[in-house]
Amino acid sequence: GERPPELAPDDAGFVEAGMGETDAVSLGELKRVNRMRRDFVANVSHELKTPATSLKLLAESLVEILEEDPDQARFFAQRLKSETERLAQLTSDLLDLARLESEEGLQNPAEVDVRSVLMVVLARLRPAAKRKNITLSWRRSGNASLYAILGDETQLTSMFANLVENAVKYTPPGGRVDVEGESSEDEVSVRVSDTGIGIPEGSLPRIFERFYRVDKARSKETGGTGLGLSIVRHVAEKHGGTVSVDSVVGEGTTFTVRLPRG
Ligand code: ADP
Repeated sequence: GERPPELAPDDAGFVEAGMGETDAVSLGELKRVNRMRRDFVANVSHELKTPATSLKLLAESLVEILEEDPDQARFFAQRLKSETERLAQLTSDLLDLARLESEEGLQNPAEVDVRSVLMVVLARLRPAAKRKNITLSWRRSGNASLYAILGDETQLTSMFANLVENAVKYTPPGGRVDVEGESSEDEVSVRVSDTGIGIPEGSLPRIFERFYRVDKARSKETGGTGLGLSIVRHVAEKHGGTVSVDSVVGEGTTFTVRLPRG
């Protein structure tokens, strides 16, 4: 059908192929989607600009003081390194998210053993946990052969890595992170619980939003992008599953992912 005349030109620019049947989609819904996209672009620009600006400033200062103050120069070089890593992480998270949002369903679903995905993730995060003196444990119940699901191994790895990485990041030294798997004929569920700082009740409904962080300042220190949990939610949903959260401030947080077995 024809595009409705009420659409402003900049709105029209966002109307996609496939959304041509405007009779089926309400104008209000279209406008809402367009507004969300504009907000997303504005957020992305802001998030990329901040580290880019500080990289430039750090590099300039480094050049200036390189000779007369080597100690200060080393400090700037270190910060240059961590800001660069942050920017690289942000870019990679953004690309993952863009891919998850643009692709319909799963591209090449194959049999994936959730248990071996978790083993890889735990091995990868063990050094970070160890540095913080955090006990990272794994427990499985249910038949080992029932951990196979149809899915995307890369996406599942990134989903569980995000959850375990957060658990380690938001748990003070000396705490625990427990990963528990459970399988049945119908589904595989994985719980990641920590004895960390917790999430205030008011923030719980928002944590899966892109760029949402409970504490912006602290999150920047710990190197977060605010995209991890929206990636988690997308991956769970792409697999026909769900992710939920329970948390008590000062006591800890539990994320539960449930994935149907086909
Ligand atoms: P970030 O990159 O900032 O960690 P996420 O999307 O992964 O972004 O998480 C969003 C926010 O949810 C975090 O900034 C943090 O405030 C909160 N959060 C996530 N996981 C935990 C956890 N295990 N314990 C406490 N807070 C958490």
